[in-house]
Order: sequence, then structure tokens, then C-alpha cells
Amino acid sequence: MTKNIAIDGPAGAGKSTVARKVAQKLSFIYVDTGAMYRAMALYLLRQKIAAEDTAGIEDACKAADITIVHQDGEQQVLLDGEDVTAFLRTEEVGNMASVSSANGEVRRKLVALQQKLAGETDVVMDGRDIGTEVLPDAGVKIYLTASVHTRAVRRYQELREKGEKVFLEKIENDIQKRDEQDKNRENSPLRQAEDAVLVDSSEMTVDQVVEKILTIYRERETA
Ligand code: C5P
Repeated sequence: MTKNIAIDGPAGAGKSTVARKVAQKLSFIYVDTGAMYRAMALYLLRQKIAAEDTAGIEDACKAADITIVHQDGEQQVLLDGEDVTAFLRTEEVGNMASVSSANGEVRRKLVALQQKLAGETDVVMDGRDIGTEVLPDAGVKIYLTASVHTRAVRRYQELREKGEKVFLEKIENDIQKRDEQDKNRENSPLRQAEDAVLVDSSEMTVDQVVEKILTIYRERETA
């Protein structure tokens, strides 16, 4: 049986940074499921399918070939054989992913891919529904969160470092809106699994969060 660690939580809680580091420490593979939803969104944008065109999204979902490969421990997402990893982290793709990830067909296809990966290798997988839907039997489940303000400030600093002109208030509003969408959608809403450990990273450094998760993992291993 493979070993799996599930990390869920809202946007900007630091899931990917933390999950990547935990995976490195344990020599597990890090699986970023958000990138898969983003790759599907990129496909929809390229095919010029509108966010409200449910039938169009379902047809496109069947046609799109999404594959995950790992090179030097880094996940790469292939869309119809093309490595699209570098195109996934834009606001346009994120906004489309937020809408299209609510579609049941999209979720079924990507959840199957995620479960296959976790069945083949030891993984740290992050997302919104990993502990609740994708890997309900994961040995360790973490629900990583932080206050809206903390998450907004982190995102603000990240964008400022990239040289983008941004406003904290707007980012805070966007985060709140994204949270609402993720928590209130019909298909696999974001929620803490009953057996997940809640970690609030508002007052913690990345290394402290990583250490906490590793401690939980080791305790479970020896239990
Ligand atoms: O985490 P990230 O911002 O890359 O996720 C992109 C979008 O995909 C989000 O809007 C989120 O709602 C969705 N998503 C999801 N289920 C996951 C991972 C991401 O619905 N397991």
C-alpha cells in the first residue's frame, strides 16, 4: 500500500509551498491537483469555450488529454502531449479553473487521475477535496488555513515582488469571493474532513508548518 498525505484548504493558505517541502523531506512525490484543474481551464480557454457553456465544457473534458509527469521531483502537466506547466498560474486561467472545476464531469476525470497517481506512488497531494473525496483513506489529512487578511497580504507581497501593481483591498475581496465559491459549490465543496488536523498558518512560518505536519506523520507511522 502506498503512503498518502492529503493537504486541503483555501487559496493562499500556503498549501503548495508546504506540500512540496513535506514531500522533499519524505522523498514522496508532490501532486498539485490545482494545476490539473488549471490545465483543463487552459484547454477550455484555447478552445474558446465559455465558462457558462456546461455542455461545451463536458465535451471538451472528454477530448482533453491531461497527463502528469515528474522531472527532478517537479510536477509537469501535459495537455495533449504539450508541457503547459508554465502557462497555468495566470489570473485568467485561475478564474476559469474556479468555474470549470465545479463541473461534475471535469471532477470525475481529474479525481480518477489523482487516485491512480496516489495508488502508484507515495504522495503528498494538495487541493480542496483530497481528504474528503479523492483519498478518504489517506494516513494523514491536514486542513491548512490562515485568516483572509494573512492570505491577502502574502499574495500582495508575492505580486508586488513580481512588479505587478496591486491593491490589498481588491486581493482581500477576491480571496473572500474565491472562498465562497469553493465552499458553497454543489460538487465537492471545500470543507475540513472529520479526521483532518486543522493547522492555522496565520502566525506560523513555512518551516514551522512543515515540521508540524512531519511530526503528525511520524506519530501516525509509529502508532
Ligand atoms: O489551488 P489552485 O488555485 O491552483 O486551484 C485552481 C482552482 O481549481 C481553484 O479555483 C479550485 O477551486 C479548483 N480546485 C478544485 N479541486 C482541487 C484543486 C483545485 O476544485 N482538488
